[in-house]
Amino acid sequence: MPADILRTHLDPKQRAFRAEGVVSATVRQQRLQSVIDMLVQHSDELCQAMGEDFGGRPAVFSLANDIVGSLGSLKHARDHLSGWMADEARPAFPPFDAFGSTAWVRFQPKGVVGIIGTWNAPLFTLLSPLASVLAAGNRAVLKPSEVAPRTADTLLRAAQACLDPEVVSVITGDVALADQFTQLPWNHLVFTGATAVGKKVMAAAAQHLVPVTLELGGKSPVLIGRSADIRNAAERIAVGKSLNSGQLCVAPDTVWVHASQLHALISALQEYYAGLYPALESNPDVTPVINERHFARVESYVADAGARGARVVMAGDWPSSAGAASRRMPLRLVINPDEQSDIAQQEIFGPAMVVRTYEDITQAVASINAGERPLALYHFGNDLQERDWVLDHTLSGGVSINDVTMHPALHDAPFGGVGASGMGHYHGREGFLEFSHMRTVYSAGQHDPRREWGMLPPYTTAFEQMIRSAITP
Ligand code: NDP
Repeated sequence: MPADILRTHLDPKQRAFRAEGVVSATVRQQRLQSVIDMLVQHSDELCQAMGEDFGGRPAVFSLANDIVGSLGSLKHARDHLSGWMADEARPAFPPFDAFGSTAWVRFQPKGVVGIIGTWNAPLFTLLSPLASVLAAGNRAVLKPSEVAPRTADTLLRAAQACLDPEVVSVITGDVALADQFTQLPWNHLVFTGATAVGKKVMAAAAQHLVPVTLELGGKSPVLIGRSADIRNAAERIAVGKSLNSGQLCVAPDTVWVHASQLHALISALQEYYAGLYPALESNPDVTPVINERHFARVESYVADAGARGARVVMAGDWPSSAGAASRRMPLRLVINPDEQSDIAQQEIFGPAMVVRTYEDITQAVASINAGERPLALYHFGNDLQERDWVLDHTLSGGVSINDVTMHPALHDAPFGGVGASGMGHYHGREGFLEFSHMRTVYSAGQHDPRREWGMLPPYTTAFEQMIRSAITP
């Protein structure tokens, strides 16, 4: 199979890339426009496919997250790439600069980029990075997740109808194909998915020294400072956590609150969550958990924590068996679970949330810093000193202050993780740079003073003294 993929998807694009030479701003804009047009023309079928894959994901969420979200990235890249592409002058060094030498950085496309996406945002995780990849003048092959098969097939058909297969194509298949995809000699590979799989992807890419952008997950924490308006924090957390039923890479995973505010937080979360979703089983606004396996996974995290003595609170007035038939799972809050429980160790990625109490916020920060670096971190509070202290003493892919899940929507700011939550970025100029080779060019002046200044062999003591005089503090 790798040979087939190479022949039909990678080789022709690499040949076309080599033959093309310069990829003008106009050509890049046209390629981005063809993806935009594809999305506009096929938005309804793509939304229907995403709805069916989830067993009833609200069309408005698919439209907002995957269609409009991707369009935002694609249009931003289309409208800004000519400014990003311009060569950047750099100072040449003395004494050559005095004789007319110059230097600049040229941003050149790398070639053909493989992009592997996830099921939870099945278009956004392919098309938002594609915006940066095409802006930088590359070609791409997209590999959607088989966990959302209707979306993958619909995207495949839409791409076949709308895109030049020598520029962008889609390949569908199972995990074996995904594994083989990572073995190919891409010029760059973008992987969005779990941290454990990201390690395998990076190891596979190392065979051909393929540079990787890894967009991974993790346990994104929320720090509620004592100065925060608890009701406001609860409302925003309830809204953010319920997006895609917590099946978001930046979903709040563990909420830290001062012990004295725990009760107020739980009550407000229950009130706001129940207000957003007064019904569950038949509520078309609630995204189901994607499949039985993930439903059972989240259930087992909650059950394991309960069995180890954690208090489990339903964020709504539902029986404990609610949601099993439709996979519309109620949000449950797991209070101060055992450190060794699954829910404390694993990324939840579904409708459950850990709530932990602190006496001093430094304890919460120490606990966060003892774990892996998360993809997102959230701070609530009006104490600006505390906010800056938290920013200075933690590291995460990105941050939202007094809200959750907002910063990834910034099309003009880098989106990516750090440490176990990933490496590299897309979005904005940083995304363009990620998929460009930053090529330094030095151009010599008319006159080379090295011989007349005694800088060439046979070396003289005068030259040595001249060099030594440059050793200054
Ligand atoms: P997975 O890591 O299971 O899968 C991600 C993609 O990788 C899928 O296309 C999958 O294919 C493919 N894949 C699976 N195994 C391999 C392998 N051995 N080699 C190469 N590719 C492989 O993640 P999920 O799809 O379950 O997504 C959830 C994870 O993704 C969470 O950790 C979440 O935080 C993270 N995520 C990160 C985002 C970010 O921007 N940082 C955004 C969205 C999610 P297939 O599905 O066909 O098996």
